[in-house]
Amino acid sequence: MNDYLLDIENLQVQYVTDDGTVSAVNGIDIKLQKGKTLGLVGETGAGKTTTAMSILRLVPHPPGKIIGGTIRLDDTDIFNISEKEMERMRGNIVSMIFQDPMTALNPVITVGDQIAEAIMIHQKLNQEKANKKAEEMLELVGIPGNRRNDYPHQFSGGMKQRVIIAIALSCSPKLLIADEPTTALDVTIQAQVLELMKELKTKYEMSMILITHDLGVVAEVCDDVAIMYAGRIVEKGSLQDIFLTTKHPYTEGLFNSIPNIDNRKAELKPIKGLMSDPYNLPTGCSFADRCDYVMPICREKSPQKIFFSENHYTECHLYATDIDFKLGRHQE
Ligand code: SF4
Repeated sequence: MNDYLLDIENLQVQYVTDDGTVSAVNGIDIKLQKGKTLGLVGETGAGKTTTAMSILRLVPHPPGKIIGGTIRLDDTDIFNISEKEMERMRGNIVSMIFQDPMTALNPVITVGDQIAEAIMIHQKLNQEKANKKAEEMLELVGIPGNRRNDYPHQFSGGMKQRVIIAIALSCSPKLLIADEPTTALDVTIQAQVLELMKELKTKYEMSMILITHDLGVVAEVCDDVAIMYAGRIVEKGSLQDIFLTTKHPYTEGLFNSIPNIDNRKAELKPIKGLMSDPYNLPTGCSFADRCDYVMPICREKSPQKIFFSENHYTECHLYATDIDFKLGRHQE
């Protein structure tokens, strides 16, 4: 037994397509304590969703393949259990909320039946008890229980996302993974849904991984933050570490590209260029072509983790202490 509900070590995932091989996740480590929320931040293609799908053991194969690493979830090595055991873990131990509530719900089944179905599968309750629990779950997420016989199209986007949350929480999972859960919603509804998730997380004493590209959402909800870029975690730390003592140039770029409410005249500075071609990642640091601080060594060697405290590290040559190494005068 350890303190970590989730312990990922050196996870590597590839997609093999007709156009070549994409290294979607390139050796990441994540440790998540019970009851904590980790924000997984990065732009599209950084490997955030593939990481989440790996935790659920749902990376589509083919074309996806987990080629290395381990994931321990609730003290279980999930790459060494049967599909039946993994099915039991999905729902009971880990549950996921997807980005778009419109596609996550079945349009021809009432919302109550969709919640009850999840309960019957995972908790082995009979229909009557599952229906009652479905009503309770609807009320828990702020929807009157008597709307259980309504169909998804009779709900607004925010209400549909509440239904999705009710389904995800219906079996009291220990870990909730939420993939951009508020992106498809209006800003005011986003705030309500985030507040609801925070409340439920505390009520159920769950751990949560929140996948997002929105640092404002991270600031609202997360204890720890991992910044992903081209399949690597390039900086990880507590919320304070990442917001107050930012280290990696990519993290800095993310902050520079969001409006500053205290200084509305401050110029927005988007990160130049695009993420490296995932079929052909460069030697050395994948951020080199976009980085204002790039040095010769950056195009030769991949940066290793440099720790500033037990919980805060970055992967960037800027923080290597050996000046010869930075200038490329290193010995092989
Ligand atoms: Fe920039 Fe070099 Fe650091 Fe990469 S390793 S982020 S290119 S300074």
